[in-house]
Parts: sequence; C-alpha cells; structure tokens
Amino acid sequence: MSYNASVTALAPSLQGSVLVLNRFYMAIHVVSVRRAFTLLAKRVAEVVSVEENKYLTYNFDGWIELSRLQAKYENATLSWVRTVSLKVLVPRVIRLGACERLAAPRVRFNRRNLYARDANRCQYCGRDFPAAELSVDHVVPRSQGGHSTWDNVVCACTGCNARKGGRTPQQARMRLIRPPKRPTRPPVLSQKAGLEIYRSWKHFLDEAYWSVELK
Ligand SMILES: [Zn+2]
Repeated sequence: MSYNASVTALAPSLQGSVLVLNRFYMAIHVVSVRRAFTLLAKRVAEVVSVEENKYLTYNFDGWIELSRLQAKYENATLSWVRTVSLKVLVPRVIRLGACERLAAPRVRFNRRNLYARDANRCQYCGRDFPAAELSVDHVVPRSQGGHSTWDNVVCACTGCNARKGGRTPQQARMRLIRPPKRPTRPPVLSQKAGLEIYRSWKHFLDEAYWSVELK
C-alpha cells in the first residue's frame, strides 16, 4: 500500500498546520499536515525539530525512526499520525530542499488578515482593542479617490475613526503610527505561533532567520 493511501484514512491530527521554511530557515508558508507529509515522502523537504534551542533536521526515514523511538514513551504533548503499520510524529516545522519552491502564499485582503497585520492596534492612537471595537479605515478616504488596498487601509478604533471622518490623516491632523503595507506572509501565521502546539514556530518567525549558522 502506498504511503499516501494509508495516510488518507487518518484523521484529526492531519488537520493541523505545519510551518514551511526555505533552505535559509526563513518562514515562507504554512501548509496542512497532509501536504507536509507529501513533501516529506517525496523527499523534497526535511523535518526541522527544535530541541533545547538547537535545530535538528531529519529526513523522512530519520523522522520515522525517531517516531518509532518516541512511541515507546507516552508523551501527551506530541501528536501522532497512525498508518496501518506505523505511528509517525506530526512535524511542526519542515524545511524545503534547495530546488523546491512553493508558490508564494497569497495573503487574502480581508478583515481578519488586516486586523492580524495591525495586531488589533489602532494605527492612529497606537492602542490595542478587541476586534469588536476596531473598524477598517481608508487612509485616503474613498470619497477622495482612495482604494481598498493593503497600502491604503488600516485598523482604527471607533474613536479615532470618528475623529478622522472623511478626511486624510493630514487634513485631520492625525498621524499613522506606521505606513500600511501588503504583508509578505500570512499574518495569521504570527497569531498561530502564539498557540502552544505551534510554539516551535516562534524560533523561525523572529530570531532564527538572523542567527542560524549558515552552511
Ligand atoms: Zn485609536
């Protein structure tokens, strides 16, 4: 039986997400657990495991072997995928080989991603708000020809939004805390990194890219 055929029958742990790094250990994507296993089985990616602040890499066979060893110890913090004959650890981070490319993730322009990009912070007064108290503000108002694009839309609290009204920041004598830009990676990625099971992602979302030893 093929690996993919046997994995298809498996369930909930395949619904998680796996962070994808390029060969420079830079976070570039998030894929499903299923897709990650496909990339591993095709030998175009390896598992990156963060152990005591060191990055260890495993090819697919090595990962299966590690799973076999780990399976002897019951560890509630790990997730597993079961095949007919194997019980394989769910990786949280994989790294693509030199030749492999994934299409750049397209970051959807929607409210959720906008709030995530601005970290629920009003871009005028700089304070954090629950989503319900934020609104979408067109920096250059649509009435003055402003478009609904990443570089013209920010989160604003209802107070700042009302104060600004149908004016540009300049006209309203208000200042943006930073100019809005299209996000280069899905903003929800940073949010997920806050969850316990994705804790290892954090290493790659900030310091790892700059501090990892280049080979
Ligand atoms: Zn505000």
